[in-house]
Parts: sequence; structure tokens; C-alpha cells
Amino acid sequence: ILSLRNVSKNFGALKVTDDVTFDLDAGQALGIIGPNGAGKSTLFNLITGNIRPNAGQVFLDGVDVTQQSPMDRCRSGVGRSFQIPQPFGHLSVYENLLVAARFGAQLSAAEAEARCMEILRQTGLAASAGKPSGGLSLLSRKRLELARAMATNPRVILLDEIAGGLTEGECGELVDTIKGIHASGTAIIWIEHVLHALTRVVEKLLVLNFGRVLMIGTPAEVMASDQVREIYLGAEA
Ligand code: ATP
Ligand code: MG
Repeated sequence: ILSLRNVSKNFGALKVTDDVTFDLDAGQALGIIGPNGAGKSTLFNLITGNIRPNAGQVFLDGVDVTQQSPMDRCRSGVGRSFQIPQPFGHLSVYENLLVAARFGAQLSAAEAEARCMEILRQTGLAASAGKPSGGLSLLSRKRLELARAMATNPRVILLDEIAGGLTEGECGELVDTIKGIHASGTAIIWIEHVLHALTRVVEKLLVLNFGRVLMIGTPAEVMASDQVREIYLGAEA
């Protein structure tokens, strides 16, 4: 569904994305790990079109979308959450989802309403639908990020460190919700430092280091790599 081919991005002299190539199949879940500053969020911005690469191409279903705007890519089926959530705080949870469904996916009023009701259920937010999104608990804010990504009717969602800061119990609840979304057929790319949450969902892990793909493999393969342990896990141990 999504392919990156030799994608590179520099900010001045800093090479933040260095010749990145990978494929994501429809319905697949891929985790991205790597140290702070490795270029993970930048990779998402390249996929969504929020920034353009200096070299390389991004393909959606075989179509080169490298020059397409973020809105066009959203309408082609790419949904995302942001590392720093920015819901419309004065709007309710439901209204935030309506905005995403109406403008992100160009659904009619009736379609958007139905879509949002379904997403509220799927993301565990039904009881919070009428609450102002400015005053939600951390877990509900995470759920809203997930729900906003889903409201645009995506075929692939990009989640940027959505599990951080939660208690173990809350994290488990969020993982169950993400698993449900995955089971319903939505492809997922998930950047996450909370490894135990990530490995409960994804089939493959991509390790990013200094903007380069160090390794792509199953979680077991990646965790067994000495190089990965040294570079990534060494910082945590
Ligand atoms: P973290 O785990 O901390 O979220 P990350 O892997 O998501 O890190 P990025 O946010 O992609 O890292 O940033 C990678 C590098 O690119 C960092 O050194 C960052 O300072 C730099 N960078 C990101 N965006 C810009 C920009 N717009 N202009 C200049 N430098 C940038
Ligand atoms: Mg980041």
C-alpha cells in the first residue's frame, strides 16, 4: 500500500533522512524504533507530505505521491497522529472527529456522522463524546489522537509515540484499542519508545539510526541483533 524509495532529507548540512527504502503491505503493522533525533517523526512528515524529500519517492498503491499535498494524501488514505497532540480544545471530542471526517475525508454530513459514531465506539471514547477535548485525561487524549487519525477513513495510520506517559494499565487498554483497529484491516506504522506496547501489535520492526534504516525484521530478529542492542537498547539498559 505504501512504498518509500531511496528517500533522503537534509536540513541544511544535517542529513535527517538518509536513503530510506521500505514497503508496507495492506493491513500490515510496522513499528519504528530508534534513538531520539534519529529522524522518526521526520519520516512521518515525508510520508504525509508535510515536508518534501531532497531525493527519492513516496508511492501510495503504486502511484507516485511525492509532490502531492498533505490534504491530497490524507484523502488518498493516509491518517496520522502527532507527537504533540493538537486537538481543537474548545470543541468536543465528537466535534473534533467531525472536522477530521468532513474536511480530511470529504465525507457528507450524514456519512461523517456515521463514521464518527463508529470511531467513538472503536476507540473507547463513546462516553466522552460530548466533553470538551481541552479537559480530557491523558489516556482519553491519546484515544482522541487515534480517533482523529481514524476519522479520515484511512487505509494506513501513522502513530507517533502515542503510548508515552501512560500507566501500565492504561497502556494495555490503548494497545487493545490499537489491536482492534489493526484487526479491522487498517495498516499501521507506529513510532514508539515503549517497546512492550509496540511488540504486542506489530509484525515487523524498522530500526532507524542517524536517518538510516539499520534493520527491518520481526521483533524477535531485531531484539536478537547485537548492533541494535548496542545502539538502541544500550541507551536504556
Ligand atoms: P524523537 O524520538 O525525539 O521524537 P525523532 O527520531 O522523531 O526524535 P526528528 O524529530 O525526526 O527525530 O528529528 C531528527 C533531527 O532533525 C533532529 O536532529 C532535529 O533537530 C532535526 N530536525 C527536525 N525537523 C527539523 C527542521 N524543520 N529544521 C531543522 N532541523 C530539524
Ligand atoms: Mg519524534
